[in-house]
Amino acid sequence: MNTELTHLSLSTLRGVGKQTLPRLHQAGLVSVLDVLLHCPIRYQDRTRLIPIADLIPHQFAVIEGHILSVRRVFGKKLTLHCEIEDVSGRLTAIFFHLHAGLSERLMPGAVIRAYGDVGQDKSKKRFILLHPACEIAAEELPPLDTCLTPVYPLSEGLTQSRLRGLIQQAIGILENHAAAMDLIPAALRGQYAWPDFMTAVKCVHQPSIEDDVNALLAFKHPAQERLIAEEMIAHQLRLRRARARIANFNSYRLSENTDKLNHFISTLPFPLTQAQKRVMQEILLDLQSDKPMQRLLQGDVGAGKTLVAACMLLQTVASGYQAAFMAPTELLAEQHYQQCERWFKPLSVRIVFLTGKLGFPERQEALSRIANGEADIIVGTHALFQQEVSFHQLALVCIDEQHRFGVKQRAALFDKGNLNARVAHQLVMTATPIPRTLALVQYADLDYSVLDELPPGRIPIQSAVLSNTRRGSVIKRVHELCQKGKQVYWVCPLIESSETLQAENVAAIAAELQTVLSDCCIGFIHGRLSSEEKNQTMRAFNKGAVDVLVATTVIEVGVDVPNAVLMVIENAERMGLAQLHQLRGRVGRGRDPSFCIFLYQTPLSIPAKERLAVLRESQDGFHIAERDLALRGSGDLLGTRQAGAGGWRIANPVRDSHWLIAATQIADNLLKEDSSLAERLEGRWYQKAAAGSKTG
Ligand code: ADP
Ligand code: MG
Repeated sequence: MNTELTHLSLSTLRGVGKQTLPRLHQAGLVSVLDVLLHCPIRYQDRTRLIPIADLIPHQFAVIEGHILSVRRVFGKKLTLHCEIEDVSGRLTAIFFHLHAGLSERLMPGAVIRAYGDVGQDKSKKRFILLHPACEIAAEELPPLDTCLTPVYPLSEGLTQSRLRGLIQQAIGILENHAAAMDLIPAALRGQYAWPDFMTAVKCVHQPSIEDDVNALLAFKHPAQERLIAEEMIAHQLRLRRARARIANFNSYRLSENTDKLNHFISTLPFPLTQAQKRVMQEILLDLQSDKPMQRLLQGDVGAGKTLVAACMLLQTVASGYQAAFMAPTELLAEQHYQQCERWFKPLSVRIVFLTGKLGFPERQEALSRIANGEADIIVGTHALFQQEVSFHQLALVCIDEQHRFGVKQRAALFDKGNLNARVAHQLVMTATPIPRTLALVQYADLDYSVLDELPPGRIPIQSAVLSNTRRGSVIKRVHELCQKGKQVYWVCPLIESSETLQAENVAAIAAELQTVLSDCCIGFIHGRLSSEEKNQTMRAFNKGAVDVLVATTVIEVGVDVPNAVLMVIENAERMGLAQLHQLRGRVGRGRDPSFCIFLYQTPLSIPAKERLAVLRESQDGFHIAERDLALRGSGDLLGTRQAGAGGWRIANPVRDSHWLIAATQIADNLLKEDSSLAERLEGRWYQKAAAGSKTG
């Protein structure tokens, strides 16, 4: 592969200097080719006017009318409120950044065309446009655009117009350049009626007047489909290579004798579910091979993944090797540690706890026990793969709630175990319900096991969606349950902007509840407390000494206290369904009926109401995930909170799932028929990821 050509430096572009270059790098753009492949996340339709009366909230629109009046409004900041009228109605455009040019031209009587996202005022009776882009004229405005305007994912210091300019240049430079050669064989292009590479790229960035607007808006235009499929093919190639790389190493072959494991299982107070048995067999087979296991274990909340992991840790220790169990939070790591102690102490298994929060002497001691093999099982957070940690015949790593760890961290852990060319088996576990086809593609580098059965005897959680105005009666319910010796979680709304505000809020709600429920013990945890404080509260809650635990969403993953039977979630409308489902999974773990109350702030929009209703009606994580997708178009299931994130440039595995199977097959054929072409294709889309410059 001619890397010089594909790495054509960005400084070739006009206007890219010391200031812009780091910003482009920040956005993951390293070469001219990267700029070319920086695809729009959506398009704005500036080709048609919408009458004010026909506006739809939250949609982008272009309106045109006369300015009726302009008002200065003094709030925290000075704003201009501009009343606009067309033949169908009126709206208010609100401007924040008042540069002189703008306020001078905003004059009653002028004709204005405004482009922006439609909002509504508090009364929901009037449309508003917040700081729209606009054109103003005394009499007549220039003609409307004739084709769609691309909208790009932005990062700090980059604007839409800046990006458009750079992309235009990149197209000019690469048009006849070897780096932009078509890498999809002509026969295949013919089969799908795909345009060639440059035609597709140009169309995506600069659609022409003849292009089908609706197809473009839906990402179904042949030019888009070609690039989407190409990126998915490249992704498959990359995963296959990652897998092949690890498969080249040897691992530790665990013993086929499972007497100790069987004995341990026979001491449990309950039998394994069929699903647990099946999945354990799948994993054990992998562990008995000297090829490193790379397996994903998926299972809904409460399906009993921890026990499966624990059994595999035990089998590793019984075979004479070391095993590690890694959790995404301190809280969860501590809980897993305690659980392992309870289960394995009687079997004389030596367990060491390692997190970043240990004091110096404890840490030194833990490190030395890990290194000299006195530790059989190490439980901890990502502190486990810090530099100073050296393992002693580490044969298995279990990673809980994998969606919190990136592929990168997993690679780091892999390299850690990679001593004497023997690497640890990897078991990654997730409760994020992804439809199976999606999982197969997103995790094509992993084998896949599913725990598709909950332990028996679980009583369905009764869920209610209530307005915040019912808070008083909810608190009463909390009281009743506490008096019966039951425990309650109270989850506070998320304040993303400030950890301090969040902490204050948690403390305030705890104080409020303590005043009303004076005979109950209220505990709280939030991100501002030391881990010792958090653990103390958590331990007290575990033991039943705390009745009500007020918390942020930190308790989302893994926490397991069967006596807690009610969860109240405030401002549920602000959270994603998958997250709410995870949270709710903290109750319903014991033998008593349990409840979840989703409180929302009024007024609640109809789509938000529909979303919450899904939770009331279903407890099946997979069903909820699918409904969430259908209602939102695309979800954060894969940890991609917005389109354009998650490492994809144009494809969206949810929206474009109909291409997944074809892409997989094409990738396989390419590898067989022309592996050097396959390598170039992968390199085109992933070279910068390989350079480690792209963050998700
Ligand atoms: P998750 O899959 O969400 O991590 P956990 O591992 O936390 O679920 O398990 C939830 C609860 O179910 C725990 O209290 C665990 O001890 C219990 N459990 C696990 N397996 C079984 C089983 N086969 N029968 C009954 N209870 C089980
Ligand atoms: Mg768990």
